[in-house]
Amino acid sequence: MTNLVTEVEETVDANPESPAIAYEGTKLSYAEFWEQAGQFAQALENRGIGEGDRVGIYLPNLPQFVTAFYGTLRAGGIIVPMNPQYKAREISHMLADSGAKAVVALADLVPNVLEVQDDTDVEQVVSVGADVDGATAFGDFLAGETKDVVDRADDDIAVQPYTSGTTGTPKGVLLTHHNLAFTTRANADVPPGGFQASDRLIGTLPLFHIYGMSVVMNGAMYSGGTYYPVPEWDAPAVMQQLEDDGITIMFAVPAMFNDMINQPDAESYEFESLRFANSGGSSLPLEVLERFEELWGVQLNEGYGLTETSPVTHANTNENRRKGSIGQPLEGVEAKIVDDDFEAIPRVEEGPIDEEEADLHDITGELVIHGPNVMKEYYGLPEANEEAFTDEDGKRWFHTGDIGYWDEDDFFYVVDREKHMIVTGGYNVYPREVEELLFEHEDVADAAVVGVPDERRGETVRAFVVPTPDAEATPEDIKQYCLTNLAEYKHPREVEFVQELPRTTTGKVQKFELRDEDAE
Ligand code: ATP
Repeated sequence: MTNLVTEVEETVDANPESPAIAYEGTKLSYAEFWEQAGQFAQALENRGIGEGDRVGIYLPNLPQFVTAFYGTLRAGGIIVPMNPQYKAREISHMLADSGAKAVVALADLVPNVLEVQDDTDVEQVVSVGADVDGATAFGDFLAGETKDVVDRADDDIAVQPYTSGTTGTPKGVLLTHHNLAFTTRANADVPPGGFQASDRLIGTLPLFHIYGMSVVMNGAMYSGGTYYPVPEWDAPAVMQQLEDDGITIMFAVPAMFNDMINQPDAESYEFESLRFANSGGSSLPLEVLERFEELWGVQLNEGYGLTETSPVTHANTNENRRKGSIGQPLEGVEAKIVDDDFEAIPRVEEGPIDEEEADLHDITGELVIHGPNVMKEYYGLPEANEEAFTDEDGKRWFHTGDIGYWDEDDFFYVVDREKHMIVTGGYNVYPREVEELLFEHEDVADAAVVGVPDERRGETVRAFVVPTPDAEATPEDIKQYCLTNLAEYKHPREVEFVQELPRTTTGKVQKFELRDEDAE
């Protein structure tokens, strides 16, 4: 029987006095954190909320997120994490769809919940940070007694996150106790020696997203390490914290690492305690990886995953990595690259291959995953479930929607997302390849490439570039640079300089916004 919290309970028993959460100079020991989680669970039960009931958490990264998360699990409930940047309209779908009975929200966000409450089953609103009419303050909500952990079966649902909707309407993803317990353990083995009780993990990844929740928060709580929640990304402040708090493990997204290396005083920082750094969520430009390693002497490994796979499926490790690869499947996870008929595509001998030289058509296909980390299903969406899975030889394979290839040593390479591929004049262009080239230009701080409608070619390649502060190149220079280095059909016919790129809180460029902007 896998219960996501019983292992944490063992951690608590083994390290009651160790710091579990460190925030703004205050540390909560494992015993204190566990006591609060038990009080939260009891408070839910006192209000008739328990096994199988949904509880929304609508908070930035704060200690109360961790307490509410484990408290809900202790009561046998299911967490619906909600992006604190979402407005009332966006949360109303999640709350109504999931049937959440309670929501824990930042005081400033409580009005959004109250606005949509009548259209949902929400009975209880808990506010964090301040008293708000219509909500119970977090401290008052906690019960005097603590509730014991409720037994849950392996395939009972623990968390129901929603996909961000960058490729359609957000879908509820049903992740079981076993899905999450497996991934947390498998991922905690990735750094040398695994996560240790002495580790200090920086929590810059948002907790509403599965990457920050599963990899960093659950990882810390499983291992007895200390979790340092960071409510808002601010590169200089985080870099200072890495030094001051002696952070040992950092999981983040490429946009964060790129921001760090582009700080004017980047060279003045020394991250002496940092022993492991990992990037995931979108492709890590080689330039960013190399500059990070050059500046701070810490290996920056790339990993890969999706919400639907709890999330990690692939990782590079300090001992075993290939630059440009998303790594090898975690132990216990199976992955392959298939064509439209679900036939496995032959592996290349050794990657990464030179995409300019190779005929990508012959070696690429869709990445599919089978394993204990793969979600049970999308919530109440039979058609989406039908599309998402293929059954073969008694195995259920999940379609990632990502295009890639694999090599004989079982390293995988993601070329791009299927939906991002640009078809121009009959040729396929993967934006990532053009973006990698743009990152190599010394005047480029950030870049994104999209396809925009074009009467003659169907689509045409357009680049949005954030120039460095002292950039000399013009958009025309950048275009010429691409033309010199890429096949003609791949080069961006239009290059636009912008101040910043629209990104989700998990660092993904919102390409649909760039396309819309262009259409306008
Ligand atoms: P939606 O599915 O609604 O668009 P989303 O993109 O936010 O939401 P996530 O589960 O957060 O969904 O992201 C998963 C995707 O992130 C993968 O399918 C892949 O495209 C991308 N991704 C993650 N890691 C990497 C990586 N190392 N390299 C390239 N792409 C990556």
